[in-house]
Amino acid sequence: MSGIKLEKINKYFDKNHILKNLDLYIEDGDFMTLLGPSGCGKTTTLRVITGLENPEEGILTINGKEMINGAKGYYAPPSKRGLNLVFQSYALWPHMTVFDNVAFGLSINKMPKAEIRTKVESALEKMRIAKYKDRYPSELSGGQQQRVAIARAIVTEPRILLLDEPLSNLDAKLRLEMRAELKRLHRELKTTIVYVTHDQVEALTLSTKIAIFFEGNMVQVDTPRNIYRHPVDIRVADFIGNPKINFVDADCKYSNGSITTTSELGTLTVPCTQPPSGKVVLAIYPEDIQISSEKVEGGIPLSVYSVMPAGSETLFQLTTSGENLILAKVIGELDLPIGKMVWVTFPLEKVNVYDKETGVLVE
Ligand code: ATP
Repeated sequence: MSGIKLEKINKYFDKNHILKNLDLYIEDGDFMTLLGPSGCGKTTTLRVITGLENPEEGILTINGKEMINGAKGYYAPPSKRGLNLVFQSYALWPHMTVFDNVAFGLSINKMPKAEIRTKVESALEKMRIAKYKDRYPSELSGGQQQRVAIARAIVTEPRILLLDEPLSNLDAKLRLEMRAELKRLHRELKTTIVYVTHDQVEALTLSTKIAIFFEGNMVQVDTPRNIYRHPVDIRVADFIGNPKINFVDADCKYSNGSITTTSELGTLTVPCTQPPSGKVVLAIYPEDIQISSEKVEGGIPLSVYSVMPAGSETLFQLTTSGENLILAKVIGELDLPIGKMVWVTFPLEKVNVYDKETGVLVE
């Protein structure tokens, strides 16, 4: 079977259990992003795949070949795993030109000079840095150095490319540009990419699949769309929204395949196969909330607590009592006075309901 398969991986640092029974399958050609808060085990997972870290238990298979078998104490050396890794600190050789930095991996494999030139030039073209080929790293901006590091990784045409927070040192504008480059590159090269980030926008933009970690546990592996629309756990819902998703505590009653919730957002009835154990939490993205300054049928009356214009959009904090604030995002400019009464509506199918006790999505 092609791709990368991690089965029941357990990794400890001293007595700390860092990766807990990790199962993950990365299909050939996937752009798989490992996403989660700082310290949840993303980099450790990447280091286990590359062979820089050995787990105590579990099996790793790459393109059908067993690379780790914890029970047998077998760990294939990193050089035998057919992977290429780009770290957060891209560590170019300062005494070599851009061309020589990128050519290095091919030169040590004793490839003919003409072939090296063709391959290096093609990698530089792909990363749009051909015109800098005679410069030294110190003569490049951070973003250009980053591109050289990626060119150096792709020039050997690895089937699998591992990237650990490769855009973390760039400013916002360059980050956006590089995201687009990486996405284009993945489409062009059809390489399997495993990407580590704690930036959920980056993960949603780039990936074909996202694996979400919390404290060494894999909580959800799914397409970006499903991760965004149907987070299976309240921690995922809390982590993924930008601006943050609204959580509203509610009482609930189950009857005949649906639950009726009562909260400051009024009474809602949503389908449900398994009754939750007690109270629930409603989760609604700010962009799913519509505001009307006129009374609307079925609208929930709230008052404007604050208005935050942000160029192309406006954020509103709305409230019933001044305690719980509901965030709403409106595209364009809308100016409403503080304290004004507005009516809020949202599509019921966009509301996710979580069991307050277990944090699990109620379906
Ligand atoms: P970040 O986004 O901050 O890079 P991460 O999700 O990549 O975080 P890891 O670097 O995988 O997290 O670290 C997971 C946990 O393992 C952390 O608590 C970290 O302190 C611990 N850890 C990582 N490497 C070591 C090590 N060599 N020795 C001891 N503990 C370590």
